[in-house]
Amino acid sequence: MTIKVAIIGSGPSGFYTADSLLKSGHDVEIDIIERLPTPFGLIRGGVAPDHQTTKKVAKAYEKTALNDAVAYFGNVEVGKDVSMDEMRETYDAVVLAVGAPTDRKLGIPGGDKEGVYGSADFVGWYNGHPDFTDLSPDLNVGAVAVVGVGNVAIDAARVLVKTPAEMAATDIADHASKAVQASPLTDVYLFGRRGPIEAKFTNVELREMGKLENCMPIVHADQLPDEVTGDWSDRDQRLKERNLATMREFLDVDPTGKEKNVHFEFFANPVEVLGGDKVEGLRVERTKVEGGRAVGTGEFFDIECGLVVAAIGYYSIPIEGVPFDSDNGIVVHQDGRVGDGVYAVGWIKRGPTGVIGTNKPDGETAAQQILEDVPDGTKPGREALTAMLDERSVRVVNYAGWQQIEQAEIAAASGEAPRRKFVNVPEMLAVLE
Ligand SMILES: Cc1cc2nc3c(=O)[nH]c(=O)nc-3n(C[C@H](O)[C@H](O)[C@H](O)COP(=O)(O)OP(=O)(O)OC[C@H]3O[C@@H](n4cnc5c(N)ncnc54)[C@H](O)[C@@H]3O)c2cc1C
Repeated sequence: MTIKVAIIGSGPSGFYTADSLLKSGHDVEIDIIERLPTPFGLIRGGVAPDHQTTKKVAKAYEKTALNDAVAYFGNVEVGKDVSMDEMRETYDAVVLAVGAPTDRKLGIPGGDKEGVYGSADFVGWYNGHPDFTDLSPDLNVGAVAVVGVGNVAIDAARVLVKTPAEMAATDIADHASKAVQASPLTDVYLFGRRGPIEAKFTNVELREMGKLENCMPIVHADQLPDEVTGDWSDRDQRLKERNLATMREFLDVDPTGKEKNVHFEFFANPVEVLGGDKVEGLRVERTKVEGGRAVGTGEFFDIECGLVVAAIGYYSIPIEGVPFDSDNGIVVHQDGRVGDGVYAVGWIKRGPTGVIGTNKPDGETAAQQILEDVPDGTKPGREALTAMLDERSVRVVNYAGWQQIEQAEIAAASGEAPRRKFVNVPEMLAVLE
């Protein structure tokens, strides 16, 4: 009998699992359940709007979605429209591919002031994720502090300082585009507790900061070591050498005509958000690195800023009835097996690390485990889920529905923009009326 598999979440890890199951050649029926009408998780809502080439990976996922054995249930949230228990009862295997949608908290005094945002919210806002449309960060500020020195931090900084021309061929949400263009912002500070060697940027993202039309990358020459030392893998050693070379090149960028600056502040640990109800600045402690760890030196400095974005890591949300490891922000599992017919892939399994492709082996492992554990299907699957959702009047968006929404977004785009995103669910559903 056909094995009935539900994949909860339509991001990379969910699609790689579906693809691996299809490639196995087994008789499977795969339902992808997604809480938003729109698929692809962080490819749509996380990857920066000016990195359209990266977003093209969704075309491969589309092929999977259009396979006859696959059905897309958009606008269906597990935990709200259907319970996890019901999913278990309905499917032979349930794969959790729900990602890590919230932020690790800054956890410093003043961290709850108006104007402090986690990167999940801030990135979601500029990418038009419906959960964050109403965030409305006040960009009528001269400076922004971004806490963190990874790719998410650099994405947020870059989107804030690129010119309208540089952002023309992007799908940044309209509300964010307007706010950024109207902003008097001149300075973005990136804070890393440790040094340039420990920063987690990939080199392509870092190099881009040296090529911006109206923005200078500022590094402190005295913070750049002569060489990369430390116990790194060969791959990491090469990456860090490239990053160090790129940061040295920043010292030679010609500042003429550039009105904005992105400051790379290493050995700097934000300890307090300053201001009244609203952010007015950040107090930072100078650090030194000892044995790979940042240690405070007792020397402090303040910077003025009107907005703080904490890009210090993402965190998963516990799922009802599924054991959760709150220290690491992931479900409890044995190499992806959660137990009782449930599997985990992607960020809910590994935590929020790696690139899109890092999720592929998770999908392959889950597919293999499902086929080992469930030699034969016994559960009702799609038919039963459809009946349940019908009875509850849930407005399911199938893949054809998403394609209609996408066509409407493409048709509404102006100039070089690839699409004009709908930024709330009612607008998306209105296209289908
Ligand atoms: C800001 C940012 C930028 C990034 N940029 C890049 C990049 O440029 N290049 C790169 O290689 N990697 C990038 N990454 C990493 C990449 O996006 C992740 O590795 C990948 O998206 C993780 O996949 P996932 O499937 O685990 O989670 P996600 O992509 O988050 O997908 C999870 C999906 O599950 C859905 N969901 C959640 N809960 C439920 C529920 N209860 N019911 C139904 N559906 C649910 C969500 O709506 C979402 O669609 C970036 C990450 C971030 C945060």
